[in-house]
Amino acid sequence: MKTIAILGATGSIGKSALDVIRENPGCFEPVLLSAHTGVESLLRIGKEYPNACLALAGAVENAPKEIHHIGREGLLRAIEECAQSGCALVVNGVAGAAGLEPSLAAIDAGMDVALANKETIVMAGEVALRKAREKNVRVIPVDSEHSAVFQLLRAHGGAAGDSADAAMSGVEKLDSIILTASGGPFRALSSEQLARVTPKDALAHPTWKMGAKITVDSASMANKGLEVIEAVKLFAAPPDKVKVVVHPQSVVHSIIRFSDGGMYAQLSKPDMRRPIQDALFFPNKGAASFDSVDLTSLTLEFEAPDEKKFPLLPLAYQVAKARDLYPAAYNAANEEAVSLFLKERIGFLDIARIVEAVLQRDWTGAVAMDAVWEADRKARSCVYELKSLLHASS
Ligand code: MG
Repeated sequence: MKTIAILGATGSIGKSALDVIRENPGCFEPVLLSAHTGVESLLRIGKEYPNACLALAGAVENAPKEIHHIGREGLLRAIEECAQSGCALVVNGVAGAAGLEPSLAAIDAGMDVALANKETIVMAGEVALRKAREKNVRVIPVDSEHSAVFQLLRAHGGAAGDSADAAMSGVEKLDSIILTASGGPFRALSSEQLARVTPKDALAHPTWKMGAKITVDSASMANKGLEVIEAVKLFAAPPDKVKVVVHPQSVVHSIIRFSDGGMYAQLSKPDMRRPIQDALFFPNKGAASFDSVDLTSLTLEFEAPDEKKFPLLPLAYQVAKARDLYPAAYNAANEEAVSLFLKERIGFLDIARIVEAVLQRDWTGAVAMDAVWEADRKARSCVYELKSLLHASS
């Protein structure tokens, strides 16, 4: 029985992780479960695992006595205690920049991290992966595309190492990593139609069931932009070797191409339980089956992304090339703009306009934690300055 911590246990990754645990009885025991502010859902999950410590990362008044740790500091303390009690693996399913500190705390404490929080790598991958090497800790990608690439690189590189960059360096004559994108619900809309879409339209994703922020990111292709940056840092890949292809069925999760033209792909249903199971059992395979695709019932389509309609994707390439604090600024500006869009305070196309304007500022500087948080804070306040400009002009 392996003990594990699940951060963001009430979110979509957390729920899938708990499902994987149920489907593999006798293999895993959750010893720490955390949520942001969802007290009721957390208590419900806690009943199923009475020995697990419960933590709420958000500010909650009058939390019931069943909650052992409260607030940001409380969560970080819980992670540390978890490692002291012998827990070896943390699943980080926290959404957004809030997931970075818990990832670093887990790595610092010497625990492997099954990482669904892409912001950890986007904002501070340099720091997180350096710490992981120092502590001999594995960072196992859970993001479905990166999980697929990791599996493919390991399969074709003779499993040179347990880390993503080692897997990459073990592969000779790799031409490119091709990340697939569903294209989201607005793939076929015109720019005029895009200007009028509502949060409700953006939240109706055709193939994946996820939280609100990532679903909007999927509609704007910022999610794929973040994933390009994630792949560049995680696999230590040059940005021009990371490509994106739109694949509306979300069955091919990613592809690697060799210089002789041969391509290898990973196919499965769009179900996060599969990459989570791979991460939990890494480097082995879990026993549960999450149903494979029936090839004869499928038509698989691929097309180039429309960079004009979805400028957050080409912007992400600029950011991935510029490195420094640009990725942190891109992420923070996008997070704030998406939250304004969800509150119907700006239009859908304003998200990209705002992020682009924020990136016009100077974000050069070494990636160290203080600088990352400063960039994060500055980029967010920049969004609010720009938002009032938008309003003044409309
Ligand atoms: Mg993904």
